[in-house]
Amino acid sequence: MLFVDCLREVESKRVHDPFDETMKKNGKCVLVQGPIIVGVGPSGLAVAACLKERVPSVIVERAKCIASLWKSKASDRLHLHLSKKLCELPLMPFPAKFPTYPTKEHFVDYLDAYVSKFGLEPQFNQNKKVSLPMITLLDHGE
Ligand SMILES: Cc1cc2nc3c(=O)[nH]c(=O)nc-3n(C[C@H](O)[C@H](O)[C@H](O)COP(=O)(O)OP(=O)(O)OC[C@H]3O[C@@H](n4cnc5c(N)ncnc54)[C@H](O)[C@@H]3O)c2cc1C
Repeated sequence: MLFVDCLREVESKRVHDPFDETMKKNGKCVLVQGPIIVGVGPSGLAVAACLKERVPSVIVERAKCIASLWKSKASDRLHLHLSKKLCELPLMPFPAKFPTYPTKEHFVDYLDAYVSKFGLEPQFNQNKKVSLPMITLLDHGE
């Protein structure tokens, strides 16, 4: 099933859903056209970049920056413990000048450059729960 057909099916289910109406009245429900990426650590960034050209998505992050684990929790002396070839995100290799085992600073710079390159625009300070229509969409798996 095409992605657009999935969205149409989700939308037609939603308009007949009394629960959805209640949630909207309470201001707790927002309809989003497309996937929601929860969290912008390296995994969320990779998914967002791969979707960027073809599928509109919304990116939410509960912290106030990307890669919060690396920026605010990891020690400054940390290096990647796997070689850079194994740690790079899709569509953008590490710069050739980086050492085989990049430092935390290298990795954070790389992730910031990744966001710029793909024009990713996460919404920060958002602690989201994924709603039922998203699960319906993913269940199709076609
Ligand atoms: C010390 C250390 C060293 C590591 N070294 C390497 C290495 O050398 N090579 C390697 O490949 N991997 C390494 N890893 C493992 C892994 O690559 C990293 O942990 C990486 O940051 C995981 O990325 P992630 O995006 O899956 O998760 P995270 O970096 O944890 O990102 C998840 C994000 O989601 C956000 N979030 C969570 N719940 C919600 C919610 N409900 N709403 C909104 N936002 C939410 C969080 O705030 C966070 O920013 C290391 C991990 C650690 C801890």
